[in-house]
Amino acid sequence: MARTIIQKITKKYEIIGYPRLVRLNPNIPWKTRGNGALCLHVGKHGGKIKRKIGEINSLDVFCSLTFTKELDENEQRNLATIVKETVETQARIDDENTNPGYVLLLKKPDVDLYQKAVTKIVTLDNVQIILHNQQAMFEGYKNGRGLIGATAAISWEPLDRTFELIAYRPQQRWGTKRQIDLKSVIQMDADCPSTFDNYDARNHHNRIVPNSPCPILYGIRGNDVEELVIASTQVKSEPVDSWLLFETNQGTDNHLQKKQIAQIQPFESVITEGSVVENPFTIQGGHVLFTIKDLTGTIPCAAYEPTKEFRNTVRGLHVGDLVEVYGGVREHPLTINLEKLAVKHLITLLVKTENPVCQTCGKHMKSKGTEQGYKCIKCGTTSVTPIIQEKPRTITKGFYEVPVCARRHLSKPLKRMNQATPSLLVSFSGNEGIQR
Ligand SMILES: [Zn+2]
Repeated sequence: MARTIIQKITKKYEIIGYPRLVRLNPNIPWKTRGNGALCLHVGKHGGKIKRKIGEINSLDVFCSLTFTKELDENEQRNLATIVKETVETQARIDDENTNPGYVLLLKKPDVDLYQKAVTKIVTLDNVQIILHNQQAMFEGYKNGRGLIGATAAISWEPLDRTFELIAYRPQQRWGTKRQIDLKSVIQMDADCPSTFDNYDARNHHNRIVPNSPCPILYGIRGNDVEELVIASTQVKSEPVDSWLLFETNQGTDNHLQKKQIAQIQPFESVITEGSVVENPFTIQGGHVLFTIKDLTGTIPCAAYEPTKEFRNTVRGLHVGDLVEVYGGVREHPLTINLEKLAVKHLITLLVKTENPVCQTCGKHMKSKGTEQGYKCIKCGTTSVTPIIQEKPRTITKGFYEVPVCARRHLSKPLKRMNQATPSLLVSFSGNEGIQR
């Protein structure tokens, strides 16, 4: 839909800044799949600094990196009509899980709305009050919840950001099997270090290709727009109909909030620190669970089966270890669904390896019974301490993450965690009467 709207409006208007793909709380039970919203900032032609953001029908598409003149009322209505027509002809309104909505606003709502929508639950009532107060043009279809994401996406002010290059299929191929050369994806992944979540070698999962029969051929995520364009030229595939660059909050951990255990609520995503109070164990289905505790309470943590080899890390934990866990909160039972794990301290595990040796005779003593100590059968010398050795730990301190095949859109990959936050690009926030 975003691609179609951009195609329709760039003849008349100008896109200011990159189009945005904004992901919201991944733990909302009634979300539509990836809980994403798309956002365009639209002004008049005449921006002085332009940047190529894609190609549609072999024509270059540009955005302006500077503000342009505002649309007048007629133009605003015209824009709203184009958006409405596109949504009504292209949205999958017949799908029982989709509740689309569109919103056009002259002013950005406060960024608190984004903060809340990416971390907690925002009610439709709340959003409708904002829309009425700001004389927005909007329409929510079916249960209207799409308005929440649409409005929240507009209010995003990026402190950290990534980009996604989305390549689209020609309409006649929609729903057919995608032709993408896997080797070229693996090579691109190796050659383009600022991209992430492309390919999971261990689990043989090509993450740039969607599972659904949607119009998207592939999406490559990364920190750097120029390298994304290079990356897309490396992917060998069926013909690409069009492609666009989106600025996104994917891979930023924006959904996570630092909390003490007692403050953790269902449907949130949290970072919390605690010591392991119950050893990891595997339940039916291959899910691995353990429990942590801080001064305020205890909570179980889970590494579900789809997290594959990450479960082996989790199995290496032991009562007494100190960890920081990152993940979404499930309601029943209240559990943290792990996305990342920082092992901060590992206790020393001691194991009895042998009975003590008699100093006089040089022979191993015999046990006198449970907790009764040991006695040399030759000379009668006794001892209470067996030979103890440190049991090697199977994991080391440090950060661990679920594999690419199980990664959430918002989860910040470890390869991004040690990189400095990219310097801010032009910011379009403020009170300048922005049209979106
Ligand atoms: Zn002895």
